Amino acid sequence: MVKHIYIAGEWRLGRGHVIESRFPADNTINAHISTASLEDVEEAITKADQAWRQPQWRNALPHERAKILYKVADIIESRVDELSQLQTRDNGKPLSETRALVLSAAATARFTAAACETLNEELTTQRAADFMTMSVHEPVGVVAAITPWNSPIASEVQKLAPALAAGNAVILKPAEATSLIALELAKIFEEAGLPKGLLSVLVGRGSVIGDAIAQHPLVRKISFTGGTSTGRHLAHIAAEKLITTSLELGGKSPTIVLPDADLEMAAKGIAYGIFSSAGQACIAGSRLFIHASIYEKFLARLVEITQGLRVGHPEAPHVHMGSLINEKHLASVHRYVELAKAEGGTVVIGGEAITEGECAKGSFYKPTIITGLDNRAQTCQEEIFGPVLVVMSYENEQDLIQQANDSCFGLAAGIWTENYRKAWQIARALEVGTVWINTYKKFSISAPFGGFKDSGIGREKGRLGILSYMQQKSIYLGLNEQPNPWAD
Ligand code: NAD
Repeated sequence: MVKHIYIAGEWRLGRGHVIESRFPADNTINAHISTASLEDVEEAITKADQAWRQPQWRNALPHERAKILYKVADIIESRVDELSQLQTRDNGKPLSETRALVLSAAATARFTAAACETLNEELTTQRAADFMTMSVHEPVGVVAAITPWNSPIASEVQKLAPALAAGNAVILKPAEATSLIALELAKIFEEAGLPKGLLSVLVGRGSVIGDAIAQHPLVRKISFTGGTSTGRHLAHIAAEKLITTSLELGGKSPTIVLPDADLEMAAKGIAYGIFSSAGQACIAGSRLFIHASIYEKFLARLVEITQGLRVGHPEAPHVHMGSLINEKHLASVHRYVELAKAEGGTVVIGGEAITEGECAKGSFYKPTIITGLDNRAQTCQEEIFGPVLVVMSYENEQDLIQQANDSCFGLAAGIWTENYRKAWQIARALEVGTVWINTYKKFSISAPFGGFKDSGIGREKGRLGILSYMQQKSIYLGLNEQPNPWAD
């Protein structure tokens, strides 16, 4: 049976072609899904524009919108096992990781509900006694939320929750590979009581359906997470339309080991930072800088830890790394490893696909460490989005900062040291949006997230994240009998 998509509150077959959803671990078919056509895009956006203007939604009190999000959080939590399984089948991540993403989605919905209820408008400072000014925030209208396949339910709720809390309508265009979990999310919002028309989930090709959504004149904000070249393309569309964007893009994040670090803790943290999600994370710590004085010793321990990682079927317990998203992506990761060799790099461990045993039918790649490259090498500059770590050394702090910042990206960084004063100074010198010190890939919904440089524009999350889905209006109330200078 071909799966329906969610068009303005109706479940029905999209009028586009039918796609297959496959389980990346063994290539079996999960489902056949209908996709949206350009007519479906037009219908969903037109109805979304009518829906957010409805007085029941426009004038809904914050606690009424919050109530829906609290309910979304409860439903997600109550279905955690089933939703993690569905996401694992969509993108091949181990169940332990998809479970964490599902719980993070529930926490985001709950936090956003609380933020929505407690958001204040401001009475602005008075310049004169004869009028009063108030600054209020209003919805932008129809929001396009376009998401990638690597952390679907979490990155989707991160957009849907604040956009809806702000009073908008949302057209969600998920990555084709992870459409199943996105459609399930629509069911959850529907069950939680979201009025019809405020959400559509339009499955389809990014370059056709995603592009058409972004171009549509009624779409007033593009909230995008994905690759930098797609983000740049969407920024051009937004510039032409004079609308705002929030762009969460790629990374090539540096991780730094100072000579005084707890080396055991650092080595385990670094292995987790690059190899969890099989490296398919925007924040993967994919460039490692080790102080020259501990380089050999530290590298040897890191290789040992990497050797012990369990790569296998993502539904099996205790697996560290599952499959890559598909064969095409595996080929792209391997091309980068070949390029690294051509650039003079040495593959210390890994460097090939796993084609045996339980991994034979999927797209599995060995955790890979490469040394001997200069930070300017293409392999050190471009995002590989796979389990590949390039390792370099540095002599002093100035050399370190210069190399770490020598990248078009600026998403995140990790620092391992026992010296917090030094860590603070390096954290301030790095051109990145998030710095982890003696930890990695930790997230708090209350801390804003986003990139510097080619890693993006804008910030998601945080108590004020809702405001990025709103526009500000100032209202003046005249308070005296002669409001203007021309009065007699
Ligand atoms: P992608 O850019 O290829 O696709 C992302 C989404 O954009 C998909 O839904 C896709 O269908 C859509 N899309 C593609 N072309 C489009 C177009 N022309 N117009 C409109 N929409 C279009 O990225 P991906 O391969 O799905 O994801 C991997 C990338 O995402 C990596 O670069 C990764 O670093 C980045 N990412 C960033 C963050 C972050 O928060 N910074 C988080 C996760 C992933």
